[in-house]
Amino acid sequence: MPTQMSTSASELTEAERARILAKTARFDPPPARLADGRRDLVGLSRAELAAELAAIGEPAFRAKQIWHWIYHQGVTDFARMSSIARPLQQRLAAQFVVGRPEAATVQTSADETRKWLFRFRDGQEAETVYIPDKHEDRGAVCISSQVGCTLSCRFCHTGTQTLVRNLGAAEIVGQFMAARDSYGEWPSPKGETPRLLSTIVLMGMGEPLYNYENVAKAMTIVMDNEGIALSRRRITLSTSGVVPMMDRAGAELGVNLAVSLHAVRDELRDELVPLNRKYPIAELIAACRRYPSASNARRITFEYVMLSGINDSTADARELIRLISGLPAKVNLIPFNPWPGSPFQTSTASAIDRFAKIVMDAGFSSPVRTPRGRDILAACGQLRTEGRRSRAVA
Ligand code: SAH
Ligand code: SF4
Repeated sequence: MPTQMSTSASELTEAERARILAKTARFDPPPARLADGRRDLVGLSRAELAAELAAIGEPAFRAKQIWHWIYHQGVTDFARMSSIARPLQQRLAAQFVVGRPEAATVQTSADETRKWLFRFRDGQEAETVYIPDKHEDRGAVCISSQVGCTLSCRFCHTGTQTLVRNLGAAEIVGQFMAARDSYGEWPSPKGETPRLLSTIVLMGMGEPLYNYENVAKAMTIVMDNEGIALSRRRITLSTSGVVPMMDRAGAELGVNLAVSLHAVRDELRDELVPLNRKYPIAELIAACRRYPSASNARRITFEYVMLSGINDSTADARELIRLISGLPAKVNLIPFNPWPGSPFQTSTASAIDRFAKIVMDAGFSSPVRTPRGRDILAACGQLRTEGRRSRAVA
């Protein structure tokens, strides 16, 4: 039963908010203007798009028209916007671009997983992965929210890189649009029409809740009904547990929540996910209990990386089910994906099965995430490092 105990933890004071913002400001993405002065229209909110067009004397309906071309039709060339008269097309092209990140590398695995290393205007790079469903024509696009990460979870390759900068809204939504280009999935399917790129998971490089403004803006664009129109139920945001921002994301975006739990005792989680020292397990679980989707039975996913001899005992499994009891939840067991120099080993198949069974017997679905794209370095953060390394060697 929900209790009153945790509501105070949900209040982010002005001072805390200011501190978080100040801390992140120096990691801002570069301005969305090209060297030639043209502005990228991707990543603007509807109101900002209308303002850009008003500044060149265009009425409000123009923004609606262009929004449709950009996000519904997926058009990047003003000359193809056939509902717009030729002279205006030319004026638009002189002032604006409809940008995409450049694919520095694209690799498709034997199991059909596709991975891009996208390069942005300032040369920074981030990874995006498309993981098709094995049985149906749909799949998840795993998107990055930052270049690097401020946090340093011990098992995570991205965590070995420091934070370079946040990705802007254009760069976040641009990853999804460029992935859709790659499969030719335009115009955006409407309503229940099946989509090949059917879900977004914010599980790539970075901590999305430490780049909340840009992530929220990008997801608002993605969910807009006159554009890409992806339902909030098809978006999952994964966090290592930035408790105050979880409340905000729940209230403002209402997307699905995934929580990188990985340990059920504070001493261990303090080590594996150092953010736990700031927001310990009890606070994290309380935030999950208040998360809006949890109250209407949309399940929260608990991600749990299986590290041999570290967090995979039957006692750990029992403590896990005690922690999440009463929550609409599922547990995603992720076999640790090793990277060169990583200090852990993947749990044995029997340890994973034993753990999964305890969780399942308690009534929680506990799928084991099958490793995909191993042949293309699908461990988060690895491709970016390899790219830098091979260029350095060359
Ligand atoms: N920063 C966010 C989202 C990106 S990480 C978060 O931590 O939730 C996405 C998921 O991949 C997290 O659950 C993370 O713990 C997991 N992960 C990172 N490195 C991994 C590895 N080497 N093997 C398996 N899972 C890993
Ligand atoms: Fe950052 Fe998530 Fe990796 Fe932790 S697991 S270092 S929060 S990207």
